[in-house]
Amino acid sequence: LIAFLLYLFYLVAPIGQLVEGAVQLQNGLAALKRIREIEDLPGEPVSPAAPVGSDPVGVRFEDVVFRYGDDRAPVHDGVSFEVPPGGLTALVGPSGAGKSTVFALIERFYEHQDGLIEVGGRDVRDWPLGELRAALGYVEQDAPVLAGTLRENLLFAAPDATEEDLRRALTRTRLDDLVAGLPEGLETAVGHRGVLLSGGERQRVAIARALLRKPRLLLLDEATSQLDAVNELRLREVIAEVAAETTVLVIAHRLSTVTNADRIVVMESGGVRAVGTHDELVGSDELYRELAATQFLVS
Ligand code: ATP
Repeated sequence: LIAFLLYLFYLVAPIGQLVEGAVQLQNGLAALKRIREIEDLPGEPVSPAAPVGSDPVGVRFEDVVFRYGDDRAPVHDGVSFEVPPGGLTALVGPSGAGKSTVFALIERFYEHQDGLIEVGGRDVRDWPLGELRAALGYVEQDAPVLAGTLRENLLFAAPDATEEDLRRALTRTRLDDLVAGLPEGLETAVGHRGVLLSGGERQRVAIARALLRKPRLLLLDEATSQLDAVNELRLREVIAEVAAETTVLVIAHRLSTVTNADRIVVMESGGVRAVGTHDELVGSDELYRELAATQFLVS
């Protein structure tokens, strides 16, 4: 029986590998298609190599209209708001209100059809794409930790970062304690087949990775996963500290983030419904009050 089971294992294992390989190939092809789509964006100015400036940049949306296809209803139908350089601005609103689309338009993954989007006082269409992307940091909602060491995870987007940059990014994201407790410090394997990090730790690793690229504007889609009190506090401290140095625009899913924000933009069905601080909005906006009551965990 054991021999039969072993035979069965040897028969099935390569099929598993084949399936895994096919899935990886499919993911690779999808990524390639996405790169081609981005490369094909119309009217792309030729990109000069040298980035211009390193100061924090603000964002302005003025009457922005955007639909994902000519036959689709607009996702943004006259969206206007302003994010001054530096500080923390939060985007909140029900699922489907168009918050992630704001990020996609700032990053120029899509072109808006009408209105104006400015980054750093400059029409987003006039930024050379390479320079724009170099100025932006993006931290996705449930950021993956790749197989490899923690150092590799942090440096893959900023291979030229110095040890000092790395140490600073770890301190700013409160990861220094975590690193000190790992068996091989930064050389510890993490992710799949390594030390598993919690949702809050993964997001802080992603923030550290983004900071190493010295972004002039950090776009942060806050983790929706439940965090314990310590991780929630750490994330709040980290966001506040980063916002003291650069512009942070966060899609907020936590009350603790919005209560700390300098301003909150409340989005609803393709428009901006209200802008204010937490205290102002609690007093003036019914939808905001409802979102606050449900802790923003609405998506
Ligand atoms: P959530 O909090 O659920 O992420 P959101 O406020 O971020 O919502 P968006 O993700 O910007 O909202 O989506 C707004 C609308 O646009 C939704 O109806 C969504 O289905 C649609 N949409 C988003 N991305 C695409 C896409 N790539 N192609 C077509 N439609 C899209």
